[in-house]
Amino acid sequence: MPEKIILEEQGLRDGLQTLTRVFSTEQKLAWARQLAASGLRRIQVASFVHPKLVPQMADAEAIFAGLPSDSSVVYSALVLNVRGVERAIAAGVKHLAISLSASDTHSQRNARMTLKEAKQAFQEMTHLAKAHGIAVRGGIQCAFGCRFEGHIEASIVLQLVEHHLALGVDELALADSTGMANPRSLKALMTEVLRLAGSVPVALHLHNTENKGYANVYAAVEAGVRQFDTAFGGLGGCPFIRNASGNIATEDTVHMLHQMGCETGIDPRAVAQVSLGMEALLEQPLPGMLYKLLQNQDICLI
Ligand code: ZN
Repeated sequence: MPEKIILEEQGLRDGLQTLTRVFSTEQKLAWARQLAASGLRRIQVASFVHPKLVPQMADAEAIFAGLPSDSSVVYSALVLNVRGVERAIAAGVKHLAISLSASDTHSQRNARMTLKEAKQAFQEMTHLAKAHGIAVRGGIQCAFGCRFEGHIEASIVLQLVEHHLALGVDELALADSTGMANPRSLKALMTEVLRLAGSVPVALHLHNTENKGYANVYAAVEAGVRQFDTAFGGLGGCPFIRNASGNIATEDTVHMLHQMGCETGIDPRAVAQVSLGMEALLEQPLPGMLYKLLQNQDICLI
């Protein structure tokens, strides 16, 4: 039996928020339709954050109002605080990503909260979302390393997994926000996380900052992970680190998984078309590799 792997497309959120250019709601909705048509069944389309802080995401409400009412696709959003959850509830969002950082220093610099405060805030947001029937994906950022603190102890990550599970999250997501994970340590940690999580699905959000993203996908699949976040063309990155490469690319990941005998239900050529369109608009190449190859329409993939 081939493993069925679920990919969540993050390009319209994690990708667009790192670009200086702000795209129109219509353009974003067109991309969402194109990505859904490629077979993606999970697409993160917005974040409900302060429009002054992240102007690229200022149209979150309009995005959700404009999405097709296609129940086969889960459209999710990211929130950082209770105000964001309230906006998401009003916008009719059904699936929210709520996270905290495993690194206390990163949490204080990025979210201006200690880890202890972040846990409290996570709890409030999760309770509020769940009380409104919203599925919650409980995230842990910097699970595999932090640029300020370096190594993050596995015990801290596992405690946060237990914390999230105790609050009844519908799904867990561990993020290698900095691309510091390596295949061996990732496999070891994910084996532990999956054991704790039991029947709760666990997703991995991998960045390709140190070019180990796809090796980490392989290690994670070997460990039993069946869900990954990706971004078309490998968009994304870290706005704080110059030249930081982005998320693992959707079409590259899909192609590799198919070659490994896994099923995704996604057409990599269709995703590559979205990346080619974006490259044309930005007038610069994206980090992904496969879409560049697929510029030659009739090229053979095996
Ligand atoms: Zn990310």
